[in-house]
Amino acid sequence: MAATLPLSGNARLFLLVRRGLPMAGSLAGLVLALLEPNARGWYLLISIACAAEVWPTFSSGQAFLKNRAASIRWDGLWVKAFRPLARALGRERDWILSFCAWNNRRVQAVFERERARKALVLLPHCIQAADCKADVISDLGHCFQCGRCPAGDVLEGMLAGRWDCRISNRSHKAYREAREFRPDLIVAVSCSDRLLKGLLKLPEVPCYVIPLQLPHGMCVDTTFSVPHLQAAMECLVQPRPTSENVAPLRLSAGA
Ligand code: SF4
Repeated sequence: MAATLPLSGNARLFLLVRRGLPMAGSLAGLVLALLEPNARGWYLLISIACAAEVWPTFSSGQAFLKNRAASIRWDGLWVKAFRPLARALGRERDWILSFCAWNNRRVQAVFERERARKALVLLPHCIQAADCKADVISDLGHCFQCGRCPAGDVLEGMLAGRWDCRISNRSHKAYREAREFRPDLIVAVSCSDRLLKGLLKLPEVPCYVIPLQLPHGMCVDTTFSVPHLQAAMECLVQPRPTSENVAPLRLSAGA
């Protein structure tokens, strides 16, 4: 059965601000232009500027891909500008994840039509159980698949789907590896703060993002939805021919 990509968060909050404010400004400019004939030119100018501000949010498909870097940078300024207010209201994470959901919706619209040929999965090191000694940073294949953290399930998917996958303990290393790999799609898992940073640091590469869950607080024994990652890879990335020689490793924990 074909996988379907779950809704990755609610983009409404971000769109309410990102589209709502300029549209309200454009409308107010029109109304004032009608009411104040002496300053009509200025109000019309304000109305047009506000309409131009919101226009790029309606681009999709190839038009979105072509202008993606500029679009993400500009949307990022909106996220940063309203972040202090969201923090004051206790909605900072919701605000960032709403932006991430908006980003995902646009990336999904592009790659569901024409799937990515070269995708890279980026994972944070904190998904590994804190007391595990397996050297998964140098190679995820060193995971013993003991079932105590999501790394084992990712390894299963990586071997079955032949994904290119990296686990990093430093954001700058992840960015460097992503730049060197030159993917046409990144599927990244991280906390909301790092996802926002990553989207703004690598605006040139389309990135589908999946937020971490933090049951034990920041950076310790974190987890995420591996089925969501699998669905993203199935829906957005061209399948690679499978090799009968490739099978999940099942090393014992004591090996
Ligand atoms: S699944 Fe087990 S062996 Fe693999 S990284 Fe997690 S804790 Fe370590």
